[in-house]
This record gives sequence, C-alpha cells and structure tokens, in this order.
Amino acid sequence: MMKALIVIDYTIDFVTGKLPCGEPGIALEQRIAELTKQFVQQGDVVVMAVDLHEENDQYHPETKLFPPHNIRGTEGRNLYGTLQQVYENYSDDIYWSDKTRYSAFCGTDLQLRLNTRGIREIHLVGVCTDICILHTAVDAYNLGYNVVIHEDAVASFNAIGHDWALSHFRATLGAQIFNNGEPV
Ligand code: ZN
Repeated sequence: MMKALIVIDYTIDFVTGKLPCGEPGIALEQRIAELTKQFVQQGDVVVMAVDLHEENDQYHPETKLFPPHNIRGTEGRNLYGTLQQVYENYSDDIYWSDKTRYSAFCGTDLQLRLNTRGIREIHLVGVCTDICILHTAVDAYNLGYNVVIHEDAVASFNAIGHDWALSHFRATLGAQIFNNGEPV
C-alpha cells in the first residue's frame, strides 16, 4: 500500500527567516532531507506543503497574528538547507502544494490527490509541531487517514507546545509516533 510523506513549511522563513523556529528547526535539516529521499526512492507520494501569502493582505487572518512571512516570489519560500537541493533533484517525483492556511488540506487539492492514489496512511514532518503540523493532523484525523508523526522530524519555537502536540497526536488523534523510522 502506497503512503504519503507530507513535508510541511520547511522553508527558510520558518526555520531561520521571517517567522523562525530557530535551533529546533535547524536541527531537522538532515532528517527531513533523508526521509524525503527515502519516500521518493520507495515510490511513495511526497508532498511539499508550503505556506503562501500575498504582500499586505489585509483580509488574511494571519496578518493580525504574525509578521509577514512566506510572501509569494520571495527567497523565504525556498526550502531550507539541503531540502531545496533534494527537491530540485527529484522535482518530477515531488508534488509542490501551496497552502494559505495552517492545514495542508485547507483550500488545497491534497485530499483529492491522496484519494485518487488510494493512500490512507500519511506521514507528517516539518514545522511547527503545534501549529501547521497540528492543524494538518486534525484534518487528517477528521478525514479518516492513518497518521504517522515523525518526532525526530518535527519542531516548534515553543517547546511546551511541541510536547503538548506530540501527546495530543497520540492520545487524542490516535496517531503513531515514529522515531528513527520506528514506532515509539
Ligand atoms: Zn502563514
């Protein structure tokens, strides 16, 4: 059975740029690149779910909440570190999905793409554990997917939020938590 890896918001702006996760995000660089290559080479579906904002968008709810980030056409939307090169190397096998809300499902065709390929198991990695990973996991739960969270490939600027979200994924969303590719 095919599965999908959804790499969420691992961009320059979210790691070291305009709305940075900082050290915990930087620390994921090799692991996210490794998982991306592994899933592509296995023939599984890989999706880069990447936040997209327009400059001075007065109608967007995040405008009141966060400094401008991941603005269309800016370098901050490039993937962070080696992941950008991995994406370029495998761009025929990786689906780039722009999203404008926290969840990778909100306002995108992600569900249709997964369903047409018969995918029921999705693996989530990226940032931030307690924001975009959380909202994507909640939608995935409501849509009936089996969800796997790689705890060695998610991070947040908020350590308490990160820990809370990991416990929520397991205890409330019934997600499997993986470390080093194995259930923990
Ligand atoms: Zn955003």
